[in-house]
Amino acid sequence: MWEITPLFVGAVTAASGGLVLKHGLKANASEPVDTPHIAWYLEDTSLQKKVLIDTGSGLDVEHNSRNHNPVRRTPGEHIVGALQKHGIIPESLDLIILTHLHWDHAQGVLDLPKTIPVLVQKKELQFAVAPFPTDAKHYEVNLKEDIPYFLKFFNQIQLVDGDKIILPGLKVIQLPGHSPGSQGVVVDTAKGRYIIPGDLVNVKENWEKRVPSGIYNDMAAYFNSFDKLAEYETNGAVIVPVHDYTAFEIF
Ligand SMILES: [Zn+2]
Repeated sequence: MWEITPLFVGAVTAASGGLVLKHGLKANASEPVDTPHIAWYLEDTSLQKKVLIDTGSGLDVEHNSRNHNPVRRTPGEHIVGALQKHGIIPESLDLIILTHLHWDHAQGVLDLPKTIPVLVQKKELQFAVAPFPTDAKHYEVNLKEDIPYFLKFFNQIQLVDGDKIILPGLKVIQLPGHSPGSQGVVVDTAKGRYIIPGDLVNVKENWEKRVPSGIYNDMAAYFNSFDKLAEYETNGAVIVPVHDYTAFEIF
């Protein structure tokens, strides 16, 4: 059975409308919200496997604050420090699963050993290299001074195309809507089944009220993904919001 440990890997001040879609003139979409970045450390001692879901952002806080949202983070809250705080040696990781390739989920791969395979949905990589103009900044394909970070770990990427069992008790499922190749991770633990759904569910409100993220590229796909998650929830799975401090209370 897997054990899940959420790792706090920094926080940003984001506009509330980016987390929860605010249609309508009366909604205050620009209200600033403190938002955690979370990586998820998974271990199954009987399988002797260690897996990381998402990595948070990279080391260059100044770069990220300039190109994205203001980032707040101590060195110990970077992915390497966060793993070490829990006694985990980065070299011991068997696999990294990325829910999607956005900077705040994927950049940290560059600071981890280059021998670790990185699982990404094929549709996500295809979209990331040529995104809609509105999505370009999330993948940093709009920067003149450098190539996108995900191309720097291109040789580590193992593509998966669709829903797939990765290891016993560990499965990835496609959850498009926030991005075309977003995937969730279904994890079986001694306490039951949990789903790390990527940014399909940023905060509790997205899920409880079925309101998409303010960052989306296919609304029909988004609601289909909500339906898919709802079926898992009906069967007992717990849906974990990935940019919400309440995630730390769940485990
Ligand atoms: Zn995202």
